Amino acid sequence: MIDPRCISRLNEAEEKEGPVIYWMSRDQRVQHNRALLFARMKATALHQPLIVVFTLATSFIGATFRQYHFMLEGLRETENLLGELNIGFVLLQCSPEMGGPGMELARYASSAGAGCVVTDYSPLRISQQWKREAAALLKAPFYEVDAHNIVPCLAASGKQEYAARTFRPKINRLLGEFLLSQPPIEAMPQAPELPPVNWTEVIGNLSVDRTVAPVTWLKPGERAAEEHLNLFIKNKLAGYADLRNNPTADATSLLSTYLHFGQLSAGQVALEVQSSQAPEESKAAFLEELIVRRELSDNYCAYQKRYDAYEGVPGWAHTSLEKHALDPRDAIYTPLEFETAATHDRLWNAAQKELLNTGKIHGYMRMYWAKKILEWSPSPREAFETALWLNDRYALDGRDPNGYAGVAWSIGGLHDRPWFERPVYGKIRYMNASGCQRKFDVERYIARQETV
Ligand SMILES: Cc1cc2nc3c(=O)[nH]c(=O)nc-3n(C[C@H](O)[C@H](O)[C@H](O)COP(=O)(O)OP(=O)(O)OC[C@H]3O[C@@H](n4cnc5c(N)ncnc54)[C@H](O)[C@@H]3O)c2cc1C
Repeated sequence: MIDPRCISRLNEAEEKEGPVIYWMSRDQRVQHNRALLFARMKATALHQPLIVVFTLATSFIGATFRQYHFMLEGLRETENLLGELNIGFVLLQCSPEMGGPGMELARYASSAGAGCVVTDYSPLRISQQWKREAAALLKAPFYEVDAHNIVPCLAASGKQEYAARTFRPKINRLLGEFLLSQPPIEAMPQAPELPPVNWTEVIGNLSVDRTVAPVTWLKPGERAAEEHLNLFIKNKLAGYADLRNNPTADATSLLSTYLHFGQLSAGQVALEVQSSQAPEESKAAFLEELIVRRELSDNYCAYQKRYDAYEGVPGWAHTSLEKHALDPRDAIYTPLEFETAATHDRLWNAAQKELLNTGKIHGYMRMYWAKKILEWSPSPREAFETALWLNDRYALDGRDPNGYAGVAWSIGGLHDRPWFERPVYGKIRYMNASGCQRKFDVERYIARQETV
């Protein structure tokens, strides 16, 4: 049974006979996936086959080959795992000329005579637009299931939260009702007859920017994600509370990419962390990030329409930043100079090189990185745009609510409070290299990025 607070009905169409379709989007995994579980239950109740459909947009918010490659390799595994359970998998390649993913999904559902369509939840504008387009065309009931958040985003809070301190009690109140292990997806009695996806052709057809190459340090897919999680719990979780802010200590989970693509369930991570032998302090510190901070980002994107724009930052921060917009800067760089790691600051350049070469920046350095973009850009608006552009272009986990909230936190004071006023930053929290020096061996971090 799935808690009805996880499910929204997106149209009024009546139930009819025909295969059940799970339009997989944000939650690209088979197990521990409430949306697939719900679709599986519908298929059983209606005595119908189950088909998972993925609509592949030819471009997606500036994503490059690096991110598409990771996602498609994961989906290739998803097709196999579903096949073992007699669940069909269809990949539809969609271009704007064809009307985009929502229309393409509706066309496929109509040609397959679908009896019911289920999808997963995302607060992002583009995904909501695709769903609205599909909902207007579908002739079968259309459901959305929040399979990404532990406490469903729309049930956790009905408004944009000010800060973690206002959101935490709401999440904690409901956590026990939603942090539950899910039964495995059982095999369907019979597989639908569908041709296998030609992955070489799909990858070859991509028209995305291929100059940003895939990474090799992180293996894509649901199985690799589970192995990665197990190793984190076994080897690193114990030191998380003490070492997570030290970028040279390799102490964080590096799970954000798996969570972003939905190759891993946050609920499953939380359950496994809770039941581990690690010290309580480390478990609590990790769960605060995984649950409160991560789900707060979805809350921001769900209720702040301008989540990816400078206009989305809180009023006090906007006023303060504008007051200091014309303050003289010690240095001003163009987006290209930032992109090519050509600033005067070796520490900043090292963080940017980490991003370019590996598709990630350590969480602590990510804050420093974004705040210095504010300090050295001609205006706070340009800083916001440069930081988001670089994050979305190079980070494996980019184009995520966490990225929008992270940039808005660093540059625009989101979920933070006003600090002492100072040039350029206004009342936005400041960070500098000597602060980093006190926390970790800066030279070691720099040297590491030089050798990647
Ligand atoms: C400027 C900036 C940009 C960011 N861009 C992204 C992004 O594009 N995608 C992304 O997933 N995260 C982003 N973050 C948040 C955070 O930096 C990353 O989630 C974290 O560094 C990922 O590493 P990890 O998996 O080892 O994290 P861990 O420390 O192991 O944390 C576990 C999980 O908790 C979540 N988490 C951790 N820190 C935060 C946080 N501050 N806010 C929300 N959730 C958090 C992530 O899902 C993470 O995987 C950004 C932060 C900043 C300051």
